[in-house]
Amino acid sequence: MRERAEHKETSRDGDSEPDRQHAVIKRAAEHAYAYLSGIADRPVRATASGAELQQSLGGSLPLCGEDPSCVIDQLAEASLRGTVASQSPRYFGFVNGGSLPAATAADWLVSAWDQNAQVYAMSPIASVVEQIVSEWLKDIFALPPAWSVGVTTGCQMANFTGLLAARHHVLAHNDWDVERDGLFGAPPIEVIVSDESHRTIFSALKMAGLGAERVRRAHTDGQGRIRMDSLAALLKGRKGPCIVCAQAGNVNTGSVDPIKDIGPLVRERGAWLHVDGAFGLWAATTKTRRYLLEGMDLADSLATDAHKWLNVPYDAGLVFTAHPEDHQHALVVPAHYIQMTPGQRDSRAFTPEESRRARAVPIYAALRVLGREGVGDMVDRCCDLAAQMAKRLASHDCVRILNDVVLNQVLVQFRPPNGSDDAAASLTTDVIRQVQEEGTCWAGGTVWHGQTAMRVSVCNWSTSPADIDRSVAGILAIVDYFRLRR
Ligand SMILES: *Cc1c(COP(=O)(O)O)cnc(C)c1O
Repeated sequence: MRERAEHKETSRDGDSEPDRQHAVIKRAAEHAYAYLSGIADRPVRATASGAELQQSLGGSLPLCGEDPSCVIDQLAEASLRGTVASQSPRYFGFVNGGSLPAATAADWLVSAWDQNAQVYAMSPIASVVEQIVSEWLKDIFALPPAWSVGVTTGCQMANFTGLLAARHHVLAHNDWDVERDGLFGAPPIEVIVSDESHRTIFSALKMAGLGAERVRRAHTDGQGRIRMDSLAALLKGRKGPCIVCAQAGNVNTGSVDPIKDIGPLVRERGAWLHVDGAFGLWAATTKTRRYLLEGMDLADSLATDAHKWLNVPYDAGLVFTAHPEDHQHALVVPAHYIQMTPGQRDSRAFTPEESRRARAVPIYAALRVLGREGVGDMVDRCCDLAAQMAKRLASHDCVRILNDVVLNQVLVQFRPPNGSDDAAASLTTDVIRQVQEEGTCWAGGTVWHGQTAMRVSVCNWSTSPADIDRSVAGILAIVDYFRLRR
């Protein structure tokens, strides 16, 4: 049972009650500073169990209010063991990304301001910053200035928003107003995805009334990229409304669909091309890997995340469309997307929500502290570190790298020399579990084309070559330990 937080006098006599309450903000900043200062030295995994956290934070809701500082102190205390150190330079789980300190700090300002960022009248600064960020992002992604931008909670909602704009567009071209009349009786929309589309494409299709299973699937190659022969066969000789979903950044291999080849085919078919580039789109900001995204301006909509590779706090997704009218028409009642304050941006016309936080502000801070070249440099650095990791690991005779490391993703399988698939699955599962338990670094597991693998994603601004070496040493020591026991 949680100890009851006692009320303590924390401020000088004579301070007003609001001043006393505000003191807790400084305290939280101190806790946050201590948390982040220690992040590289603590175990990456969470060291408290759910039951222990329940024990320290749960119990019945107190009848009377508690002292704010005590509440914040207890949360800070619990965070030391209850968080996974996803801000650690050696956290390689999922494709999560860390947060740049300036972006975190800007995010606190957003909370302190507590602006409702839906329309200019409610928050000029939120509206203006979002407009600035939209222009900067189109610049670093080399997208045409006329494109529209929406700042969503994440890439799932960016995919959803892109598909809503698509749905509007392809039906409007068939004389159907889907926002007014719904999908009942509408011309059917053909939706083409790939065998490797991310699950959030299917949630987005579901929410948009297009059906998660009512799709045709293009086949993919050994790296998870759409095969052009398969896509061409699906598009050939067809007419009517059609949406094609491609991907930049496969969550397992990091591979990118051949957008420069897909774009013209989709155009020719008169279909809408949506690209889910949750992390892979950021390769377009680099000098060395931007070739992967060649032709991305042939897309009609693009979705990505800022909270992954741009390293801003959650929640921050981005949707770009080549069709600003369709984008807004899909989201707001037509008369209402005429801006309420002439010449100013009303953010709510570009995302599904009305009330929302000023999400563009941390993005603004991240872009400014990195600079025009710094974004791509950070992305390139992560990719180089992923390649370093793959190379070092592969020097061990029990390690197989299952993917071409084109971006920041590495699929690692641990297999005893001449071992069977079953032996590889078993060793890999054991190694992953022990890597997580031992705490030097953290990586998760996956199954890629039937092969069990450890998935490494490098997407934190603070990861250094030394962190890679330390992680590799930790992982290989675990491999040797298991090997000796077999
Ligand atoms: C992470 C991811 C998403 C979902 O993004 P959220 O920000 O979690 O909503 C979609 N597509 C791909 C390829 C992803 O990696």
